[in-house]
Amino acid sequence: MSAPQTRSAHAKKRKLAAAGSSVDSVRSSDAALVRDEHIWFEDGFIIIRAGPGCAGEGPVYGFRCHGSVLAARSPVFKIMLQLPTPAHERLEGASCVNLPDSWEDVRDLLRLLYDFVDLTCLGQKQRHSDTLKIISGPLRMAAKYDMESVTKQLTPFLTRDWPSSPGDWLEFEGTLEPAWERQRPQDPAAVVRLAQDVRLRAVLPAAFYELSRSFLRRPPYQDLPDNCADSSLLTRDDLERLAVGRERIQRFVTRDVVQSLRRELELYQIDGADVLCENMTGRAKTPCIAHLLGWWNIRVAMYMEELVHDPLRTLELLSSKVRSAGSDQALRETCGGCRGWCSRFLIDSTFSLWGELPKFFELDSLPF
Ligand SMILES: [Zn+2]
Repeated sequence: MSAPQTRSAHAKKRKLAAAGSSVDSVRSSDAALVRDEHIWFEDGFIIIRAGPGCAGEGPVYGFRCHGSVLAARSPVFKIMLQLPTPAHERLEGASCVNLPDSWEDVRDLLRLLYDFVDLTCLGQKQRHSDTLKIISGPLRMAAKYDMESVTKQLTPFLTRDWPSSPGDWLEFEGTLEPAWERQRPQDPAAVVRLAQDVRLRAVLPAAFYELSRSFLRRPPYQDLPDNCADSSLLTRDDLERLAVGRERIQRFVTRDVVQSLRRELELYQIDGADVLCENMTGRAKTPCIAHLLGWWNIRVAMYMEELVHDPLRTLELLSSKVRSAGSDQALRETCGGCRGWCSRFLIDSTFSLWGELPKFFELDSLPF
Protein backbone atom coordinates (compact mmCIF):
# COMPACT_ATOMS: atom_id res chain seq x y z
CA MET A 1 0.00 0.00 0.00
CA SER A 2 1.28 3.47 -0.80
CA ALA A 3 2.30 5.68 2.08
CA PRO A 4 -0.18 8.49 2.76
CA GLN A 5 0.89 11.77 1.20
CA THR A 6 0.57 15.36 2.21
CA ARG A 7 0.30 18.14 -0.32
CA SER A 8 4.00 18.96 0.01
CA ALA A 9 5.17 15.36 -0.15
CA HIS A 10 3.92 14.85 -3.67
CA ALA A 11 6.56 17.22 -5.04
CA LYS A 12 9.27 14.75 -4.11
CA LYS A 13 7.77 11.98 -6.16
CA ARG A 14 9.05 11.39 -9.63
CA LYS A 15 7.01 12.89 -12.40
CA LEU A 16 5.05 10.49 -14.52
CA ALA A 17 6.29 10.10 -18.06
CA ALA A 18 2.72 10.08 -19.31
CA ALA A 19 -0.66 10.37 -17.72
CA GLY A 20 -1.59 7.05 -19.26
CA SER A 21 0.90 5.14 -17.14
CA SER A 22 -0.38 2.47 -14.82
CA VAL A 23 -2.55 3.49 -11.91
CA ASP A 24 -0.85 1.25 -9.34
CA SER A 25 -3.74 1.97 -7.08
CA VAL A 26 -4.45 0.07 -3.90
CA ARG A 27 -7.72 -0.95 -2.46
CA SER A 28 -8.77 0.82 0.68
CA SER A 29 -10.57 -0.79 3.59
CA ASP A 30 -13.69 0.09 1.64
CA ALA A 31 -13.37 -2.65 -1.00
CA ALA A 32 -15.39 -0.66 -3.51
CA LEU A 33 -13.00 2.30 -3.57
CA VAL A 34 -9.68 2.14 -5.41
CA ARG A 35 -7.42 4.89 -4.07
CA ASP A 36 -5.21 6.58 -6.60
CA GLU A 37 -1.53 6.08 -5.89
CA HIS A 38 -0.63 9.74 -6.43
CA ILE A 39 -3.78 11.76 -5.79
CA TRP A 40 -4.47 10.76 -2.22
CA PHE A 41 -3.52 13.54 0.20
CA GLU A 42 -4.37 12.94 3.84
CA ASP A 43 -4.87 16.69 4.35
CA GLY A 44 -7.37 16.89 1.48
CA PHE A 45 -11.01 17.37 2.42
CA ILE A 46 -12.50 16.22 -0.88
CA ILE A 47 -12.63 12.71 -2.31
CA ILE A 48 -13.52 12.74 -5.98
CA ARG A 49 -15.07 9.44 -7.01
CA ALA A 50 -15.42 8.30 -10.60
CA GLY A 51 -15.65 5.06 -12.53
CA PRO A 52 -18.25 2.51 -13.57
CA GLY A 53 -19.07 1.71 -9.94
CA CYS A 54 -20.60 5.17 -9.46
CA ALA A 55 -23.38 4.17 -11.85
CA GLY A 56 -23.70 0.52 -10.86
CA GLU A 57 -21.31 -2.37 -11.47
CA GLY A 58 -17.53 -2.12 -11.38
CA PRO A 59 -14.84 -0.35 -9.40
CA VAL A 60 -14.97 3.20 -8.07
CA TYR A 61 -11.73 5.15 -8.24
CA GLY A 62 -11.05 7.68 -5.48
CA PHE A 63 -8.90 10.82 -5.56
CA ARG A 64 -8.44 12.60 -2.22
CA CYS A 65 -7.52 16.19 -2.97
CA HIS A 66 -7.95 19.83 -2.00
CA GLY A 67 -11.13 21.65 -2.97
CA SER A 68 -9.20 24.90 -3.33
CA VAL A 69 -7.09 23.43 -6.16
CA LEU A 70 -10.24 22.67 -8.19
CA ALA A 71 -12.25 25.74 -7.15
CA ALA A 72 -9.44 28.13 -8.06
CA ARG A 73 -9.53 26.90 -11.65
CA SER A 74 -13.17 26.12 -12.24
CA PRO A 75 -16.27 28.18 -11.35
CA VAL A 76 -18.30 25.00 -11.87
CA PHE A 77 -16.30 23.05 -9.28
CA LYS A 78 -16.40 26.08 -6.98
CA ILE A 79 -20.20 25.94 -6.85
CA MET A 80 -20.32 22.14 -6.71
CA LEU A 81 -17.95 21.98 -3.76
CA GLN A 82 -19.93 24.57 -1.80
CA LEU A 83 -22.99 22.32 -1.75
CA PRO A 84 -23.57 20.56 1.60
CA THR A 85 -22.54 16.91 1.71
CA PRO A 86 -24.91 14.40 3.34
CA ALA A 87 -23.41 12.53 6.28
CA HIS A 88 -23.46 9.21 4.44
CA GLU A 89 -21.37 10.78 1.68
CA ARG A 90 -18.44 11.42 3.99
CA LEU A 91 -15.43 9.15 4.29
CA GLU A 92 -12.59 9.47 6.81
CA GLY A 93 -13.52 13.12 7.43
CA ALA A 94 -13.60 14.08 3.73
CA SER A 95 -16.61 14.94 1.55
CA CYS A 96 -17.19 12.58 -1.35
CA VAL A 97 -18.14 13.98 -4.73
CA ASN A 98 -19.20 11.61 -7.51
CA LEU A 99 -18.36 12.67 -11.06
CA PRO A 100 -19.98 11.04 -14.08
CA ASP A 101 -16.80 11.50 -16.16
CA SER A 102 -14.36 8.80 -17.17
CA TRP A 103 -12.14 8.04 -14.20
CA GLU A 104 -9.10 8.18 -16.47
CA ASP A 105 -10.00 11.77 -17.48
CA VAL A 106 -10.40 12.70 -13.79
CA ARG A 107 -7.07 11.08 -12.95
CA ASP A 108 -5.23 12.80 -15.81
CA LEU A 109 -6.67 16.21 -14.90
CA LEU A 110 -5.74 15.91 -11.23
CA ARG A 111 -2.26 14.63 -12.01
CA LEU A 112 -1.79 17.65 -14.28
CA LEU A 113 -3.09 20.09 -11.65
CA TYR A 114 -0.81 18.58 -9.00
CA ASP A 115 2.18 18.73 -11.33
CA PHE A 116 2.73 14.98 -11.61
CA VAL A 117 2.84 15.10 -15.39
CA ASP A 118 6.01 15.85 -17.30
CA LEU A 119 5.00 18.17 -20.16
CA THR A 120 8.51 18.69 -21.51
CA CYS A 121 8.20 15.86 -24.05
CA LEU A 122 5.25 17.71 -25.64
CA GLY A 123 7.35 20.76 -26.34
CA GLN A 124 10.19 18.83 -27.90
CA LYS A 125 8.59 16.99 -30.77
CA GLN A 126 5.64 17.78 -32.98
CA ARG A 127 2.95 15.10 -32.95
CA HIS A 128 4.66 13.24 -30.07
CA SER A 129 3.00 9.92 -29.36
CA ASP A 130 2.39 10.87 -25.69
CA THR A 131 0.70 14.21 -26.45
CA LEU A 132 -2.83 12.93 -26.92
CA LYS A 133 -2.53 10.57 -23.92
CA ILE A 134 -1.53 13.49 -21.70
CA ILE A 135 -3.82 16.28 -22.89
CA SER A 136 -7.06 14.56 -23.96
CA GLY A 137 -8.58 13.91 -20.52
CA PRO A 138 -7.68 17.31 -19.01
CA LEU A 139 -8.94 19.12 -22.13
CA ARG A 140 -12.29 17.29 -22.02
CA MET A 141 -12.65 18.03 -18.29
CA ALA A 142 -11.63 21.66 -18.85
CA ALA A 143 -14.27 22.11 -21.55
CA LYS A 144 -16.96 20.61 -19.33
CA TYR A 145 -16.02 22.35 -16.06
CA ASP A 146 -15.00 25.69 -17.59
CA MET A 147 -11.32 25.49 -16.64
CA GLU A 148 -9.94 28.24 -18.83
CA SER A 149 -6.35 28.04 -17.55
CA VAL A 150 -6.11 24.33 -18.43
CA THR A 151 -7.58 24.94 -21.89
CA LYS A 152 -5.09 27.76 -22.49
CA GLN A 153 -2.21 25.62 -21.27
CA LEU A 154 -2.91 22.55 -23.42
CA THR A 155 -4.68 23.74 -26.58
CA PRO A 156 -1.49 25.12 -28.21
CA PHE A 157 0.00 21.61 -28.31
CA LEU A 158 -2.97 20.39 -30.33
CA THR A 159 -3.11 23.38 -32.70
CA ARG A 160 0.64 23.07 -33.29
CA ASP A 161 0.38 19.34 -34.11
CA TRP A 162 -2.69 19.85 -36.33
CA PRO A 163 -2.06 23.23 -37.97
CA SER A 164 -4.72 25.36 -39.58
CA SER A 165 -2.50 26.87 -42.29
CA PRO A 166 -1.35 24.97 -45.40
CA GLY A 167 2.17 26.38 -45.04
CA ASP A 168 2.56 24.89 -41.55
CA TRP A 169 1.06 21.59 -42.72
CA LEU A 170 3.44 21.27 -45.68
CA GLU A 171 6.41 22.32 -43.54
CA PHE A 172 5.60 19.56 -41.02
CA GLU A 173 5.09 17.06 -43.84
CA GLY A 174 8.55 17.92 -45.11
CA THR A 175 10.04 16.69 -41.84
CA LEU A 176 8.42 13.24 -42.14
CA GLU A 177 10.03 10.13 -43.46
CA PRO A 178 8.82 8.85 -46.86
CA ALA A 179 5.25 7.58 -46.81
CA TRP A 180 6.10 3.91 -46.68
CA GLU A 181 8.21 4.37 -43.55
CA ARG A 182 5.93 6.89 -41.84
CA GLN A 183 4.69 6.13 -38.37
CA ARG A 184 1.35 7.35 -37.12
CA PRO A 185 2.08 8.57 -33.58
CA GLN A 186 -1.28 10.33 -33.23
CA ASP A 187 -4.49 8.73 -34.45
CA PRO A 188 -6.44 11.31 -36.51
CA ALA A 189 -9.69 9.62 -35.45
CA ALA A 190 -8.81 10.39 -31.81
CA VAL A 191 -8.07 13.99 -32.78
CA VAL A 192 -11.42 14.32 -34.59
CA ARG A 193 -13.21 12.96 -31.51
CA LEU A 194 -11.28 15.15 -29.05
CA ALA A 195 -11.66 18.34 -31.12
CA GLN A 196 -15.42 17.89 -31.17
CA ASP A 197 -15.57 17.02 -27.46
CA VAL A 198 -13.74 20.26 -26.60
CA ARG A 199 -15.29 22.32 -29.42
CA LEU A 200 -11.95 23.15 -31.07
CA ARG A 201 -12.80 23.68 -34.72
CA ALA A 202 -9.33 24.90 -35.79
CA VAL A 203 -7.73 21.44 -35.86
CA LEU A 204 -10.53 19.65 -37.71
CA PRO A 205 -9.57 20.39 -41.34
CA ALA A 206 -6.09 18.92 -40.78
CA ALA A 207 -7.44 15.97 -38.76
CA PHE A 208 -10.11 15.12 -41.35
CA TYR A 209 -7.55 15.43 -44.15
CA GLU A 210 -5.28 13.01 -42.29
CA LEU A 211 -8.26 10.68 -41.85
CA SER A 212 -8.99 10.88 -45.56
CA ARG A 213 -5.59 9.32 -46.32
CA SER A 214 -5.85 6.69 -43.57
CA PHE A 215 -7.04 3.11 -43.47
CA LEU A 216 -10.05 2.92 -41.16
CA ARG A 217 -9.85 -0.18 -39.01
CA ARG A 218 -10.50 -1.36 -35.49
CA PRO A 219 -7.34 -2.19 -33.53
CA PRO A 220 -5.26 -4.30 -33.32
CA TYR A 221 -3.58 -3.44 -36.61
CA GLN A 222 -1.36 -6.51 -37.17
CA ASP A 223 -0.19 -6.91 -40.77
CA LEU A 224 -1.77 -3.57 -41.77
CA PRO A 225 -0.06 -0.39 -43.01
CA ASP A 226 1.14 2.17 -40.47
CA ASN A 227 -1.43 4.76 -41.39
CA CYS A 228 -4.42 3.15 -39.69
CA ALA A 229 -7.07 5.13 -37.83
CA ASP A 230 -9.36 3.63 -35.19
CA SER A 231 -12.78 3.56 -36.82
CA SER A 232 -14.50 2.77 -33.51
CA LEU A 233 -13.77 6.33 -32.35
CA LEU A 234 -15.80 7.83 -35.21
CA THR A 235 -19.52 8.53 -35.16
CA ARG A 236 -21.84 7.92 -38.09
CA ASP A 237 -21.76 11.69 -38.66
CA ASP A 238 -17.92 11.67 -38.79
CA LEU A 239 -17.97 8.80 -41.30
CA GLU A 240 -20.43 10.63 -43.53
CA ARG A 241 -18.30 13.79 -43.45
CA LEU A 242 -15.27 11.70 -44.31
CA ALA A 243 -16.97 9.92 -47.21
CA VAL A 244 -18.30 13.10 -48.79
CA GLY A 245 -15.00 14.91 -48.14
CA ARG A 246 -13.02 12.17 -49.91
CA GLU A 247 -15.32 12.37 -52.94
CA ARG A 248 -14.97 16.15 -53.13
CA ILE A 249 -11.19 16.00 -52.81
CA GLN A 250 -11.10 13.49 -55.67
CA ARG A 251 -13.32 15.74 -57.81
CA PHE A 252 -11.16 18.77 -56.98
CA VAL A 253 -8.01 16.94 -58.06
CA THR A 254 -9.39 15.68 -61.37
CA ARG A 255 -11.30 18.84 -62.32
CA ASP A 256 -9.53 21.80 -60.67
CA VAL A 257 -5.97 20.54 -60.92
CA VAL A 258 -5.44 17.86 -63.58
CA GLN A 259 -7.90 19.14 -66.20
CA SER A 260 -7.43 22.79 -65.32
CA LEU A 261 -3.64 22.78 -65.79
CA ARG A 262 -4.02 20.85 -69.05
CA ARG A 263 -6.56 23.39 -70.31
CA GLU A 264 -4.38 26.36 -69.32
CA LEU A 265 -1.38 24.87 -71.11
CA GLU A 266 -3.42 24.10 -74.25
CA LEU A 267 -4.70 27.68 -74.31
CA TYR A 268 -1.17 29.02 -74.06
CA GLN A 269 -0.11 26.66 -76.82
CA ILE A 270 -2.74 28.19 -79.11
CA ASP A 271 -2.52 31.84 -78.07
CA GLY A 272 1.14 32.15 -77.18
CA ALA A 273 2.45 32.23 -73.66
CA ASP A 274 1.37 34.91 -71.31
CA VAL A 275 4.29 34.10 -69.07
CA LEU A 276 7.86 35.33 -69.02
CA CYS A 277 9.16 32.71 -71.43
CA GLU A 278 12.88 32.94 -72.03
CA ASN A 279 12.71 30.77 -75.17
CA MET A 280 10.15 32.86 -77.04
CA THR A 281 11.33 35.11 -79.84
CA GLY A 282 9.04 37.82 -81.21
CA ARG A 283 5.35 36.82 -81.19
CA ALA A 284 6.06 33.16 -81.94
CA LYS A 285 4.42 30.52 -79.81
CA THR A 286 6.58 29.43 -76.92
CA PRO A 287 8.18 26.02 -77.49
CA CYS A 288 8.12 25.36 -73.72
CA ILE A 289 4.40 24.76 -73.46
CA ALA A 290 4.32 21.61 -75.60
CA HIS A 291 7.06 20.09 -73.44
CA LEU A 292 5.25 21.04 -70.23
CA LEU A 293 2.01 19.60 -71.55
CA GLY A 294 3.76 16.33 -72.42
CA TRP A 295 5.41 16.22 -68.98
CA TRP A 296 2.09 16.89 -67.20
CA ASN A 297 0.21 14.19 -69.12
CA ILE A 298 2.88 11.61 -68.28
CA ARG A 299 3.02 12.68 -64.58
CA VAL A 300 -0.76 12.51 -64.26
CA ALA A 301 -0.72 8.97 -65.62
CA MET A 302 2.08 8.01 -63.20
CA TYR A 303 0.84 9.84 -60.09
CA MET A 304 -2.95 9.72 -60.37
CA GLU A 305 -3.35 7.31 -57.45
CA GLU A 306 -1.11 9.45 -55.20
CA LEU A 307 -2.81 12.65 -56.39
CA VAL A 308 -6.19 11.38 -55.30
CA HIS A 309 -4.96 9.70 -52.10
CA ASP A 310 -2.79 12.56 -50.80
CA PRO A 311 -3.05 15.59 -53.11
CA LEU A 312 -1.34 18.08 -50.78
CA ARG A 313 1.85 16.07 -50.55
CA THR A 314 1.83 14.94 -54.21
CA LEU A 315 1.17 18.41 -55.66
CA GLU A 316 4.01 19.84 -53.60
CA LEU A 317 6.28 17.04 -54.85
CA LEU A 318 5.32 17.68 -58.50
CA SER A 319 5.69 21.43 -57.99
CA SER A 320 9.27 21.00 -56.81
CA LYS A 321 10.03 18.53 -59.65
CA VAL A 322 8.89 20.95 -62.35
CA ARG A 323 10.69 23.87 -60.71
CA SER A 324 14.06 22.10 -60.64
CA ALA A 325 13.68 20.18 -63.96
CA GLY A 326 16.30 17.69 -62.73
CA SER A 327 17.19 15.04 -65.30
CA ASP A 328 13.75 15.02 -66.96
CA GLN A 329 14.37 15.37 -70.70
CA ALA A 330 11.09 17.16 -71.51
CA LEU A 331 11.57 19.69 -68.69
CA ARG A 332 15.16 20.37 -69.67
CA GLU A 333 13.81 21.69 -72.98
CA THR A 334 11.78 24.34 -71.11
CA CYS A 335 12.83 27.67 -69.64
CA GLY A 336 12.83 28.71 -65.96
CA GLY A 337 10.01 31.21 -66.51
CA CYS A 338 7.57 28.62 -67.86
CA ARG A 339 8.57 26.01 -65.25
CA GLY A 340 8.13 28.62 -62.52
CA TRP A 341 4.63 29.41 -63.80
CA CYS A 342 3.72 25.70 -63.81
CA SER A 343 5.24 25.16 -60.36
CA ARG A 344 3.24 28.08 -58.92
CA PHE A 345 0.04 26.70 -60.45
CA LEU A 346 0.58 23.42 -58.60
CA ILE A 347 1.51 24.96 -55.25
CA ASP A 348 -1.38 27.43 -55.52
CA SER A 349 -3.63 24.40 -56.00
CA THR A 350 -2.52 22.99 -52.64
CA PHE A 351 -3.48 26.27 -50.95
CA SER A 352 -6.84 26.31 -52.76
CA LEU A 353 -7.53 22.73 -51.72
CA TRP A 354 -6.64 23.51 -48.10
CA GLY A 355 -9.04 26.45 -48.14
CA GLU A 356 -11.83 24.17 -49.36
CA LEU A 357 -11.35 21.47 -46.68
CA PRO A 358 -13.89 22.93 -44.17
CA LYS A 359 -16.48 23.00 -46.95
CA PHE A 360 -15.54 19.56 -48.32
CA PHE A 361 -15.93 17.97 -44.85
CA GLU A 362 -18.99 20.14 -44.06
CA LEU A 363 -17.42 21.45 -40.87
CA ASP A 364 -19.59 24.59 -40.90
CA SER A 365 -22.60 22.49 -39.96
CA LEU A 366 -21.01 21.33 -36.69
CA PRO A 367 -23.00 22.55 -33.68
CA PHE A 368 -20.24 24.74 -32.20
ZN1 LIG B 1 9.50 29.18 -71.62
